[in-house]
Amino acid sequence: MKFNKVLDDVKIYEAGKPIELVVREYGVDPKDIIKLASNENPYGTSPKVIKRIQEISQNMYMYPDDSMFQLKESLANKYNVESSNIIIGSGSDQILEFAIHAKCNKNSKILMAKTTFAMYEIYGKQTGATIIKTEDAQHNLEQFSKLYKEHNPEMVFLCLPNNPLGECLDTKDVYEFLKEIDSETLVIIDGAYSEYAKYKDENKKIIVDDLISKFPNVLYLGTFSKAYALGGMRVGYGIGKKDIIQNLYKLRPPFNITTLSLAAAIEALNDEEFVKECIAKNFEEMKRYEDYAEQKGFEYIPSYTNFITIKFDDKYISSEVAQNLLQRGIIVRDLTSYSMNAIRITIGKKEQNTKVFKQLDEVLDILK
Ligand SMILES: *Cc1c(COP(=O)(O)O)cnc(C)c1O
Repeated sequence: MKFNKVLDDVKIYEAGKPIELVVREYGVDPKDIIKLASNENPYGTSPKVIKRIQEISQNMYMYPDDSMFQLKESLANKYNVESSNIIIGSGSDQILEFAIHAKCNKNSKILMAKTTFAMYEIYGKQTGATIIKTEDAQHNLEQFSKLYKEHNPEMVFLCLPNNPLGECLDTKDVYEFLKEIDSETLVIIDGAYSEYAKYKDENKKIIVDDLISKFPNVLYLGTFSKAYALGGMRVGYGIGKKDIIQNLYKLRPPFNITTLSLAAAIEALNDEEFVKECIAKNFEEMKRYEDYAEQKGFEYIPSYTNFITIKFDDKYISSEVAQNLLQRGIIVRDLTSYSMNAIRITIGKKEQNTKVFKQLDEVLDILK
């Protein structure tokens, strides 16, 4: 059967492996599995949010509030913008999809870093657009500028901090770059890990109301899936000028967020203390990964997120390391598909990380 031609060039997104798969394929007891492949918050969901979900579950028989009034109000408060500047999606992924489909077609060009979030390219290619990537894997604004001038793309993606590498541009450099960009080019700033970045370094902090008032062509994305520990609930958001938001709304399916998800996100915003504690622990534990890598002589990328990317030299093949860890119930992300001999590990809880180091020691010993 023939399908839309543009799909020939679209890759299927490969998510981090679920716990169920490791149980099925390797017979590991689910309680012994350590899942550090999808950058979830390993400390689990805030107890306040869990309590709220139990209460609200009574209302499941009804459609959710499709205006999402309360969540938008809470986000508007948090970011000092109007509700009309906000659109909520089933994960910020869905906002990415809306934005790319609203802006691009087969004549369009999209500019992004060489090694960045895979969905930018996947959604882009769904529209038939041409993807242009920098030469450097990590964000390099000089290269972005040069390619921008050369190609005049419809869209530019900045992932701040970047997944899967963990690096983050300074906000002042981003502002300088944005000044060069034409008002017809939609720039997406993906802040999926922004809570981590600004905790670690003030220079990475983005003040969203300032950003969108200075740059009316920018759409900022946030998510509840990472620091807010709600990956399973699928809630994300876009913040931008009304005109952008209204056009994205034209692509939104009705009731794209469930009743439970809305309630969870609202409650999560009421428990910022929980988020802060998780982030503090994240960076304490990240230090242990840095020390581990140094001790083994592996290069790692200093990270502003809740994961760390560790590169291997010729002695090891990252896919083998990842596969051996998987058989031992530890799920990490192999970056071979990004043409890197590296693995990306989500920073787990203290006792999980201790187990990772022990297992990794054994695996490296076997593969030596
Ligand atoms: C996780 C992630 C997202 C979106 O996650 P959702 O669960 O769809 O909100 C977006 N961008 C990056 C870079 C991510 O890592």
